[in-house]
Amino acid sequence: MRPLWQTEILEGLERERETGFADSSVFGGFARFALTVLSRHLARSPRDWAGLELLLYRYVAATPGERENLAGQIRDALVAGGGTGSVAPEPLLKPAPTGQSRRTRLPQSAGGRVPEVDEPPESWSVERLKGVGQSRVRLLARMGVETVSDLVWYFPRDYHDRSSFTPLNRLSSGESATLAGTVVRVDERRPRPRLLLFTAEITDSIGSVSAVWFNQPWVARAIRPGMSIVVTGKVEMRYGRLQIANPEWDEIDGEESLHAGRIVPVYRVTQGVSTKWLRGLVAQVLDLWGERLKGALPAETEVRLGLPSLATALREMHFPTDEMSRTQARRRLVIEELFVLQAALAVERDRARPAGGGITHQPNGPLVAGFLEHLPYRLTAAQRRVLDEIFGDMESNTPMNRLLQGDVGSGKTVVAAAALVKTVESGYQGVIMAPTEILAEQHYARLVQQLGEIGVSVGLITGRLVGNERQEVLRRAASGELQVLIGTQALIQKEVTLARAGLVIIDEQHRFGVRQRSRLVGIGKQPDVLVMTATPIPRTMALTVYGDLDLSVIDELPPGRRPVITRWVRGDQREQVYAYVRKRVEAGEQAYVVCPLVEESEKLEVAAATAIAEELAGGYLAGLRLGLLHGRLPASDKERVMDDFRAGELQVLVATSVIEVGVDVPRATTMVIEGAERYGLASLHQLRGRVGRGSQQSYCILISDPQTEEGRKRLEAMVSSTDGFVIAEEDLKLRGPGEFFGTRQHGLPDLRVTNVLTDVEELKIARREAFQLIANDPDLRRPENRGLRNALARLAARRDSLRGN
Ligand code: ADP
Ligand code: MG
Repeated sequence: MRPLWQTEILEGLERERETGFADSSVFGGFARFALTVLSRHLARSPRDWAGLELLLYRYVAATPGERENLAGQIRDALVAGGGTGSVAPEPLLKPAPTGQSRRTRLPQSAGGRVPEVDEPPESWSVERLKGVGQSRVRLLARMGVETVSDLVWYFPRDYHDRSSFTPLNRLSSGESATLAGTVVRVDERRPRPRLLLFTAEITDSIGSVSAVWFNQPWVARAIRPGMSIVVTGKVEMRYGRLQIANPEWDEIDGEESLHAGRIVPVYRVTQGVSTKWLRGLVAQVLDLWGERLKGALPAETEVRLGLPSLATALREMHFPTDEMSRTQARRRLVIEELFVLQAALAVERDRARPAGGGITHQPNGPLVAGFLEHLPYRLTAAQRRVLDEIFGDMESNTPMNRLLQGDVGSGKTVVAAAALVKTVESGYQGVIMAPTEILAEQHYARLVQQLGEIGVSVGLITGRLVGNERQEVLRRAASGELQVLIGTQALIQKEVTLARAGLVIIDEQHRFGVRQRSRLVGIGKQPDVLVMTATPIPRTMALTVYGDLDLSVIDELPPGRRPVITRWVRGDQREQVYAYVRKRVEAGEQAYVVCPLVEESEKLEVAAATAIAEELAGGYLAGLRLGLLHGRLPASDKERVMDDFRAGELQVLVATSVIEVGVDVPRATTMVIEGAERYGLASLHQLRGRVGRGSQQSYCILISDPQTEEGRKRLEAMVSSTDGFVIAEEDLKLRGPGEFFGTRQHGLPDLRVTNVLTDVEELKIARREAFQLIANDPDLRRPENRGLRNALARLAARRDSLRGN
């Protein structure tokens, strides 16, 4: 009978045939699905399916026409058995299964002989290791360790230098020391009901010391007189005696070379798995198979770059000879990790932008020139530069795929508008998608005016546009009569079609997922794509996450802007704060009051905002014209409030975080943020970007009594910098890359050794090597690139399982 996993892939293929080989018959794409199925199978039963794997990779990148042929080959590979045979059991592997109970079944080869296979052991399940039973499999899985590869890439959180022991007569108070000796006496006492005191007296023939553990009954159970142990900790003088409190410890037994007499690794473990056991397991795996873990970097590259082999690097990372060799090992592993990522991005980029086949925009004509002339200001040098980069891409026949980064207020919108004009001038339609209705409407209001002047027609589509009006916009978009279409996510509904999309712009990219992005792009046939973000991303990070996009940065604010002055005050100073707001408003300026974020419930957030607005209107800000803006207001009310504020009819706008994105009222100079500690750093920076948009000095006042250290650090970061890149780096440090980007959404793999902020050199090297390799061998057919091919398969499978497919 055919194994289930093969049946799954064959069924997927059948559906592909029915849907015209669009690689879409399965959620997330057929080939990716098949690769996931395959890699799950490989994890259980290693066998050479490399041929099949390669076909699936090619399938992803192929055109529907080529896929028909590939589909046939995939079927053949599956039916014929694809690989060359099974893997012989290794010394550390459990004996080949005999009973029915085991899930891991080694495939029988027809001739009865077990052929030689050099399938790397990376993808083997840890279940196959000796000493790893069902319960340990579960515990390890909890630590993210499911395969041999996971295990050897599970690096120590710390190291203890046990390369030399301090003789016990040379211990001195206040120093950290590692010492070894024999336990001569133990003592267990409960001086108070909740206090367990366990003391072990240790001697080494020339001196003695007591080690004390508080409330660690498992230590009390483990340590017995007569045992040889090694302990690491801080030595202190207590009651006239040297003592070492709550030290890390290990028994020195037969394998002492692993746990003592060297620098030993300390792992982050979960209950039921000890550091010591893990140390043993890692050491065995490295001993037995280290040399077979080849990694992704081709040997030639390794040698050219003067790097140690992967096997050496892994060994030194777990069991370093000394600090220097560990540093080199780490560098090798960082490059390995980034190399795989960059290769994945290179493949992705080739797929998204096959050379040729894109839209070739014409050189700028009178329409673009007219638009630029009509602007009430001159573009900054940075705007000019990125516009040239964008125009260059648009005029080439390779589809543009560019990320435009610029701090809030740096003037991205006008750049986008100019690009839209260009596509219109070449006879195409342009579309821009914004994350919120307020922002879409604001873009619309601006573009209707700016583009209307030069005779370009602009339409808006949002969720709230219904009935005949909606039908009319859809009709005009489909017929090509509308030249520019602006909208929210409503744009990616099936009913929205364009006659000839030339340019697709996605505003505030970080709000949309990968899928939404690609669905919008699908509105045209290889349109040029520009994504814009006001979340400044450190360059290394950008290359790691958006490395398939080209990057343009507006790193200059329009002239005459003065940095916003930011203050942080405690809640008991609200009265002075609002007295100041009143002063500014009476001087003819406008102000925002931002209410605390209530992430759990919009309803509560609205209630809080309403209460604050009422309180201010009846108290500190009595007599001023206040408006209230929140997400639950009916659309027409929202619009009216915004219009009144823009026109200056309202002096103070009390709002929830809905104003975070893009609202542009240059006369607003003061912003008060209540409960500022509830907002993340990126949000605070976005909010602050609503002021300081005119030439007057602006102020941002954060009212907050933070409860945590991290909250305090965020506020301090806001006070000390207005530079979005500095803020972003700070944010990244405080939250870590996973949180920063939302790992799930962006498919950012968890990096195991790399520090995206500091490993810049390694990133450059890895990127250069990976892009070159993919350019020379796009399908990874060459034998020396086999390691990379395997690594990419594992990465794809990992990402899919992260996304929950
Ligand atoms: P972003 O979208 O990057 O946050 P905007 O495009 O909204 O920034 O621009 C912010 C403000 O600066 C707008 O009022 C815009 O009209 C103005 N602006 C843009 N470019 C310039 C420039 N070169 N000189 C002066 N003002 C500019
Ligand atoms: Mg182009």
